[in-house]
Amino acid sequence: MVTTSYAIALGANRPGRDGAPEAALAAALAELGGTASVIIRTAPIGPSIRRYANAACIITSPLAPPALLTALKRMERAAGRRPGRRWGNRPLDLDIILWSEGAWASPGLTIPHPAFRERGFVLGPLAMIAPDWRDPITGLTVRQLHARLTRRRPAYRATASGGS
Ligand code: ADP
Ligand code: MG
Repeated sequence: MVTTSYAIALGANRPGRDGAPEAALAAALAELGGTASVIIRTAPIGPSIRRYANAACIITSPLAPPALLTALKRMERAAGRRPGRRWGNRPLDLDIILWSEGAWASPGLTIPHPAFRERGFVLGPLAMIAPDWRDPITGLTVRQLHARLTRRRPAYRATASGGS
């Protein structure tokens, strides 16, 4: 049996079986085991007025990626999540961000998670527990991806391409 590692991102923005979003994340982190970040609160993305709680964890698992995703979806349902709007309120969201074996692509599952490089609420918690994990697509570490995202950029670039 080959045991591999996964980086999992957790999010929640409405009460569920466990009560408040933070409680849902704490329960999920306990169930997943492994190494957990702290739980952070972030502003919502998309047409939701609620705030999110987010966290990340590193787990080891003998499961192949599709089997792990099935297990995570079962945890989401048990926490009170029902299939619905993509940006809807959810008591628990569990995403697979990175896998120790590199990239994976199958219908309904892409690893690394396609959007994680642009999400501070994923990279922030992940950088706390796995700063040196290298994204197999860009070759950048989690620390570098996080720095790239949070670094101050000029509001206006006079030399932007396309100018005359
Ligand atoms: P999101 O997590 O982007 O807010 P959902 O939780 O509704 O949206 O997920 C939508 C679908 O994304 C899931 O049903 C799942 O099949 C798919 N998916 C693709 N790649 C991944 C991944 N790496 N981790 C989790 N879900 C993924
Ligand atoms: Mg998800």
